[in-house]
Amino acid sequence: MEQIHIIALSLIAVILVLVIIFFRFFIRRRQKSSSEAQIEYIAGLNYLIDGQNDKALEHLRKSVRLDTELIDAYIKIGDILRSEGYAEKAIKVHRDLLVRRDLLNLKRTAILKSLAQDYKVNKEFHQAVTTCEQILELDRHDANCKDFLLSVYEEMKDWRNAFDLLKKNSTISKSIKASTLACYKVEEGLALTKLKKEHDARLCYREAIKFDKKCSAAFLELAHSYIREKRLKDALTALKQLVQNNPDNAELAFTRLKEVLFDLGQFGDLEKMYLELIKSNPKVIEAHLGLAEMFEKKGEYLKAVDICKSALEIDPHRLDIKLMLVRLKSTLGMNEDAVNIARKLAEEIVEDHHNYICEKCGFHDHVYFWHCPQCKAWNSTKKVKSAYH
Ligand SMILES: [Zn+2]
Repeated sequence: MEQIHIIALSLIAVILVLVIIFFRFFIRRRQKSSSEAQIEYIAGLNYLIDGQNDKALEHLRKSVRLDTELIDAYIKIGDILRSEGYAEKAIKVHRDLLVRRDLLNLKRTAILKSLAQDYKVNKEFHQAVTTCEQILELDRHDANCKDFLLSVYEEMKDWRNAFDLLKKNSTISKSIKASTLACYKVEEGLALTKLKKEHDARLCYREAIKFDKKCSAAFLELAHSYIREKRLKDALTALKQLVQNNPDNAELAFTRLKEVLFDLGQFGDLEKMYLELIKSNPKVIEAHLGLAEMFEKKGEYLKAVDICKSALEIDPHRLDIKLMLVRLKSTLGMNEDAVNIARKLAEEIVEDHHNYICEKCGFHDHVYFWHCPQCKAWNSTKKVKSAYH
């Protein structure tokens, strides 16, 4: 009996020792593979910083083979796939991570942020929005996520939601916020115009003006809407308001203004308008130019010459004024003067373009824009003048 006891005890002891040896071996192996995984992960990160995505991907994949718990490595793998144009694969990688149990909120947020970007790149905008909402459920103050969500709404042309979200934002400056909100309203109005809802569109333009009295786009579109509905007097009011509220952009209104006044049979009012504008904002050269053109048409060449000269005192590099001066002088038979001005001009000109440039990213266009097509910034447009313009 006692012998059986001893054998049983020895057997238990042997099994115990084997179990201990097995576990120690297993734990060491795990520790070893875990530290190897860390080394691979760091190597992957370094390649990523260097911009060598292929090598980064190779090392990150090795790291997750060694340690399947390396969530950050999986996140990065997905991010690289997205940046290489495989957004769908990235979505799969990131979504699979969310299935894991016991994810800490911090990790869950990081995964969701990457996933939201995948969806945006893959143009699955509604999914991107839902994902952002999940992030905001975890932390409703996540400013980064809100900015991203705003960019998704912009991409979707969902101007109402973009408007509501930005309106609640208290981190950006009041003036930038107001002018961007105004732009959203202009965009919403343009969308309504496409649906032939001119009245509703105009309400949007008017709301835009309430937010930003200098919103040239809103005044212009308001005028265009009235012109489409043949309400020329209202269009005229909108264009005059644009000139008054934002004289720097007055030239945007002039072409339309001339057409509307002509159609209304009030072309004579133009002279009065130019004179008023020159008095209140002498730097608006277009007003001088417009006035000089009127005098030229009426055959009052000397008056036109005087206006050109006073305009050049304000802005000595206006090509159109100088060319007009050449034309006027030759019409007046003052050929020597005309030749001298032309010769001097030809010598001085190096470049004579004026462009609208985005101050944020440098994109430029010859047409005024308020929403940069390249970096998507609002109201970042600046008129760039070379010596001659
Ligand atoms: Zn830009």
